[in-house]
Amino acid sequence: MNGYPFPNESESQLMNESESETTTVPTCGMCQRQRTIGDPAHPMDSYGYTPMQVVTGQPFGWYSGDDGEMCPECMTKTMRGGL
Ligand SMILES: [Zn+2]
Repeated sequence: MNGYPFPNESESQLMNESESETTTVPTCGMCQRQRTIGDPAHPMDSYGYTPMQVVTGQPFGWYSGDDGEMCPECMTKTMRGGL
């Protein structure tokens, strides 16, 4: 006799709270897009931004710093002056 085929919502929320540090998804401060990993539409999300990308002209990765998060698309607009 199992009366709990699915975990109830309050239980799963409590679990999320205790794991909030590992489940937080970085979100771009400019366009509010969440960082993806392994999404072919946003391949650069899997990489981090480094100053070397500016020097070598490579595509930007995801920026994550004390002042916020920024996705590769917004980094490109900000650093390279537009579309
Ligand atoms: Zn963005």
